[in-house]
Amino acid sequence: MFVQRIKFYRNIQYYVILSIVAAVAPALYGGQNNKKNETVGTMEYVLEDLEYPKNALEPYIDEETVRLHHDKHQAAYVAKLNDALKSQPSFSYSGPLDALLSDLDMVPEPIRTAVRNNGGGVWNHAFYWRSLSPSKSEPSPVFAKAIDKNFGNFENFKKLMLSSALNQFGSGYAWLCVTRDGALKICSTQNQDNPLMFDADSKMIPIFCIDVWEHSYYLKYRNLRADYLEALWNIVNWGRVSERYDYAVAKKRVMP
Ligand code: MN
Repeated sequence: MFVQRIKFYRNIQYYVILSIVAAVAPALYGGQNNKKNETVGTMEYVLEDLEYPKNALEPYIDEETVRLHHDKHQAAYVAKLNDALKSQPSFSYSGPLDALLSDLDMVPEPIRTAVRNNGGGVWNHAFYWRSLSPSKSEPSPVFAKAIDKNFGNFENFKKLMLSSALNQFGSGYAWLCVTRDGALKICSTQNQDNPLMFDADSKMIPIFCIDVWEHSYYLKYRNLRADYLEALWNIVNWGRVSERYDYAVAKKRVMP
């Protein structure tokens, strides 16, 4: 009985010592790892929250579409971008995503396509959501004047933008951009490409975009992309687009 009790206390001692080691070791190990991550490898990108509730764009974009589009599609791009970057720990980059997408040549070749597709997916979606708002706003006088100067009048701009979005074959985006000489230009891109990725000669600064992937409208509008595009016009954040225009003209880069 006495011997058994001694054994019991010995076991308890071992248990306590092992528990302390088990608790402290990962903390030490993890601490070293965190430190390592500061100097080697690339930062993790996060899924940006929406600026408004997921039902706020109703009836133009329904809540279920926003939920799937943001929580599933956009989240998947974030995860895959981080996976790709993690797979090349010798590549170190911790700047903003737009600068990385503007200079994809700096990305190691084995992950360049993954960064282009998934990094584009992360950045383009955040830019798209921030181009929209449930609150009505108007283009600033300066931006409205630039629209008139470049496209004749606002109605014509709208027509050209919708036509670019409608005629983008398959998945992609329509963009309103500021060119290097400060003009406004409409273009469209395939997949998750954007005008930041264009060659140096044709690179442009985006100020507004429309996602025309089917996942952005198919639940509510089915195959009727034109109806989605027409509805979208009711929820454009013209205040934000005007700010982006001012920023692009003044600083020659995209507004964060
Ligand atoms: Mn999308």
